[in-house]
Amino acid sequence: MRRALPAALTAAAAVTLAAATFAAPVAAKENRFAVHAAHLIDGRSASARGPVWVVVSGDTIEAVRSTAPSDMTVVELGGATLLPGLIDCHTHLSARVGLPPAERMKSSTARAAIAGVSSCRNTLRAGFTTCRDVGGSELVDVGLRDAIAAGEIEGPRMLVATWSLSMTGGHGDRGNSVDYHWCNDLESGVADGVDEVRKKVRFNIQQGADVIKILASGGVLSPHDNPKLTGYTFDEMRAAVDEANRLDRFVAAHAHGKQAIIWASNAGVRSIEHGSYMDDEAAKVLKKNGTWYVPTLYVIEPILAPGNPLHIQDENLAKAREVRGHMREAFHAALRNGVKIAFGTDAGVFPHGDQVREFKIYVSEGMAPMAAIKTATSAAAELIGWEKRVGTVEGGRYADLVAVAGDPLKDITELERVKWVMKGGRLVKDELGR
Ligand SMILES: [Zn+2]
Repeated sequence: MRRALPAALTAAAAVTLAAATFAAPVAAKENRFAVHAAHLIDGRSASARGPVWVVVSGDTIEAVRSTAPSDMTVVELGGATLLPGLIDCHTHLSARVGLPPAERMKSSTARAAIAGVSSCRNTLRAGFTTCRDVGGSELVDVGLRDAIAAGEIEGPRMLVATWSLSMTGGHGDRGNSVDYHWCNDLESGVADGVDEVRKKVRFNIQQGADVIKILASGGVLSPHDNPKLTGYTFDEMRAAVDEANRLDRFVAAHAHGKQAIIWASNAGVRSIEHGSYMDDEAAKVLKKNGTWYVPTLYVIEPILAPGNPLHIQDENLAKAREVRGHMREAFHAALRNGVKIAFGTDAGVFPHGDQVREFKIYVSEGMAPMAAIKTATSAAAELIGWEKRVGTVEGGRYADLVAVAGDPLKDITELERVKWVMKGGRLVKDELGR
């Protein structure tokens, strides 16, 4: 039995304030209903339970009940499994996917912003109701975040980093690539030395950054830099963290090489992104410092897919082949040493929405399905500092919910087929077919 949704549920609600400033959710009484499902994975508990009725009031979860309420409309999800909206801690929603270098050179900021509208929509419809977007250019990320928050376009709640901080000649220096002359006049994330790093952190925050991203090592998809080598000195990393923390922001550090991982962790970054060459020694440093690890294991598969569909340059493909073997070893080292892991994917290198494929790799590499789900729910919320807002299904959190038809604890790929999505109490997708 399924009753019709209240009109207010399907109307586009003007939601919240800008991501950087918004407070914990406030319940609004006029839009009150319950979502019933046979099973619930709440993002925090060790096992699933059910049946449940999740009472939603306005944009917020009011309560989770085990008996049917009699005084409100029930949205019936039948035998489905309900989960918290998923969180990807490493996206690039302003990135256009798979452009050959010459076309990338000619692609304008306006074009990137328009592409970002469908990227945000695809990400939300895949089940991701929150994204930490770790690096974009020309403030497209800020524009997308604010347009979503204003209810103008559909997409996840976003924290954004604006420009990634890079040393001259580092992973984020566009002067490394063919578009040097074209990009010479544009703002960039290049900052050298402690003073420039501090100033760039201040500038990014002035322009709307919720989080600071530093490129602590070289990268894979950039010519002339080496992922094994450090991209900043320890003092520069320390300056970035000090300045960001002083201004109430966390730092996410892109770090492939072991030295970069250890320096960044000791400098006090919140998370290590990629961590490709993390061994037991480096993992122990993360464990000791309480640093999060954001693995991004899926991205290497589309990069190295037959026929080079992402149009990656030969030099960068060679780097990707070298890194591939190490990434899963790093994941094993993190598991062995009890490092905190949060879900992240590098979506934007590959099509937005496909990051659901990251879950299967975590499980096939030895993580329990419930632990894999927590990386993208309660653990991710804790990493980004939003644990009071998102990441669990419990009273006081945003009504960000997804449902799958089967049991993701038996088959983790159920999460590749999210059938139903609600964000802030508003239904955005219903393909349960009941
Ligand atoms: Zn990235």
